[in-house]
Amino acid sequence: MSVLEIKDLHVSVETEQGTKQILKGVDLVVKTGEIHAIMGPNGSGKSTLAYTIAGHPKYTVDSGSITLDGEDVLAMTVDARARAGLFLAMQYPVEIPGVAVTNFLRTAKTAIDGEAPSIRTWGKDVKASMKNLRMDSSFAERNVNEGFSGGEKKRHEILQLELLKPKFAVLDETDSGLDVDALKIVSEGVNRAKANTDLGLLLITHYTRILRYITPDFVHVFVDGRVAEEGGPELADRLENEGYDRFLTDVAEEE
Ligand code: ADP
Ligand code: MG
Ligand code: MG
Repeated sequence: MSVLEIKDLHVSVETEQGTKQILKGVDLVVKTGEIHAIMGPNGSGKSTLAYTIAGHPKYTVDSGSITLDGEDVLAMTVDARARAGLFLAMQYPVEIPGVAVTNFLRTAKTAIDGEAPSIRTWGKDVKASMKNLRMDSSFAERNVNEGFSGGEKKRHEILQLELLKPKFAVLDETDSGLDVDALKIVSEGVNRAKANTDLGLLLITHYTRILRYITPDFVHVFVDGRVAEEGGPELADRLENEGYDRFLTDVAEEE
């Protein structure tokens, strides 16, 4: 079992108006095999947490720690984080012109494992995963994210998840912009990855919709850069009915 541990994390960004504190003391422990839903209103800092775990240079960690099995993740380069077993699906995936999906996946797999995947099994694995995700085989020859529809981008993320086999994955609004069929296919892929590799998952979502297909073990509600409430899957049901108003009122009263 592996553990990803976030302790009293404070993160800020430089804006034109000065330094803006976004995360104000986040604590979170995720073990392999667990699914944690990170929910919360827009602007509460969910994506900032994802970017900080991934090592995005724009986000400054002012204090606190992130460790993976006791190793300091914040001291690692972005590449080292991937090799250590962290996977981040960006809310807005970048285009990589001139690089075909098949080459991208193979290069990423080689970089993460430290050796090229076996030619014999790799091709089969890619085909099988693509088939599972109902992706046409021609997709493998397209350039990464170039002209991908929203649904294609999400499937490509899950394809990476299945093939790269990380210990921990952070999926940021993987459900946004998906129709019900695509949502089901993507959710099945996540559940398969969890079943096959004992994946630990941080599932960031504004809406409870995806949680009908991926059952979280824990739900954490972000408000104003902190975890305001935690619970089991029943908390997601409550949010579905009540929304985030209750939390937002609390914040307003504090100020
Ligand atoms: P969420 O994902 O929960 O919607 P974000 O982490 O994207 O929240 O944003 C949290 C807050 O920090 C918002 O007020 C947002 O405008 C601000 N913020 C995030 N990233 C940046 C940035 N790069 N520059 C300036 N402000 C940012
Ligand atoms: Mg947002
Ligand atoms: Mg976000």
